[in-house]
Amino acid sequence: MYNEDHFSIGQLEQLIQDQTERVNIGTFWFIAGLFFILIGLHRSLELASLGIGTVLFGLEKIINGNSLRSRYSKILSQYYLPAEIDCLKCGNNLELDLQERVSGKYFCPFCNQTFRFTIEPE
Ligand SMILES: [Zn+2]
Repeated sequence: MYNEDHFSIGQLEQLIQDQTERVNIGTFWFIAGLFFILIGLHRSLELASLGIGTVLFGLEKIINGNSLRSRYSKILSQYYLPAEIDCLKCGNNLELDLQERVSGKYFCPFCNQTFRFTIEPE
């Protein structure tokens, strides 16, 4: 589904979107499952056992989503600029956005200049 060597910004954003969706869905079913268990313990054991399954389903989605998150961080740290750098010229600490990290180009507001990181062999 994801080609790690040729990640575009769109794909990275998709990865984060998938992650958020999975965690949100997982959290919803996790909480719903807890309610099923709580009500089920008073009313019906069937509902309680359905609740256990629902809680586990929610947990699985959350874990799955979080593994996407660590994959995303790994790709970014492996192939792209870090989230924070010191400007090459003035040395001020800068926070980079996704676009800057992926493109290797960043804007320094202190120098009022755009810089590009390049890999040049000696
Ligand atoms: Zn600078």
